[in-house]
Amino acid sequence: MQNIYFTPGPAALYPTFEKHIKSFIDRQLGSISHRSQQYRDLHRFTVEQLRTLLSIPTTHQVLFLGSASEAWERILLNCVEHESFHLVNGSFSRKFYDYAQALHKFAHIYEKPMGEGFDAAEIEVPAYAELICTTHNETSAGVQMKPADIHKLKNRHPDKLIAVDMVSSAPYPALDFGLVDTAFFSVQKAFGLPAGLGVWIVNEACLAKAERLRQYDSLTIGAHHDLPTLWKNAEKNETPATPNVMSIYLLGKIAEDLNRIGIETIRKETEQKAAILYNTLKNSSVFDPFVTETRHQSQTVVVANTRKDSSVVISNLKGKGMMVGSGYGPYKGKQIRIANFPATSFEQIDTLARALNEV
Ligand SMILES: *Cc1c(COP(=O)(O)O)cnc(C)c1O
Repeated sequence: MQNIYFTPGPAALYPTFEKHIKSFIDRQLGSISHRSQQYRDLHRFTVEQLRTLLSIPTTHQVLFLGSASEAWERILLNCVEHESFHLVNGSFSRKFYDYAQALHKFAHIYEKPMGEGFDAAEIEVPAYAELICTTHNETSAGVQMKPADIHKLKNRHPDKLIAVDMVSSAPYPALDFGLVDTAFFSVQKAFGLPAGLGVWIVNEACLAKAERLRQYDSLTIGAHHDLPTLWKNAEKNETPATPNVMSIYLLGKIAEDLNRIGIETIRKETEQKAAILYNTLKNSSVFDPFVTETRHQSQTVVVANTRKDSSVVISNLKGKGMMVGSGYGPYKGKQIRIANFPATSFEQIDTLARALNEV
């Protein structure tokens, strides 16, 4: 029996994955030179599909990294001389902050408990912070930050750079890249691919900053793939080192599939499927939505408090061929996490909702 994966990353593979990996093999793309025109065409195709899907303007470059967490380090090294500012409400946003400290940046933090979200109005950005680090979807807690609130922060602080971790939500959030300097995701979440590729979207303001910082003797922007080097290669549709051609190819194909459906439809369906899950939790005697403020409830990773131990719930669902994630950190035994990515159909969500009612 095939399991249905509702785990928030690695997640269910996109239904067309098998077809695309077969064409990758049939076309022998694993053996082509990454300095060939054939590779450059493949690379350009993926970038173009992502530009269409996410409305990425030409002011921004699309770069390929090993993972999303690599983007944390690249952004901090290349875009911060002294001070960064972090909105932290769970394990992933905290790691971004931890990276800043490990890189000896002066990292400011505005922290809230897991399950709570951020609105622009309450946020005071420290005067000397050069970079505002936000997490659109905090995967550990199932909390989202509305794009409008992220945009407001940039509007209030046009002189600062703003970064958006959209790892467990892209392509769902409708970010306005006129108001977002840099954003990033990895492919094993909502794009329904195996792990092994990070995508870094970054603008000219970030590049200019990196070029300035590169001249300082007292600072390093890194040896491995600094932003100016990545950017220069991307202009030729290449990468500095031998890239994950398979994943870049597959991402382009899945993005093309999503573009055929249309991003508006994908966003609307994501919200409709999330509504089914949240309604199920609200009407359940075993489960509750962890996040109580509706506007902060993630549309892509639904977290439920469970009155029965989560290990019992998880194995009950597993017996029916459905895999859900456990709670994170202190909530491990008390919560389950359910991914609601484009790979998951309405039918699968309905099947899970019925099973949750029977737990
Ligand atoms: C999964 C995740 C990451 C880390 O992604 P990797 O691909 O494992 O590096 C970062 N941020 C968020 C919000 C995530 O969900």
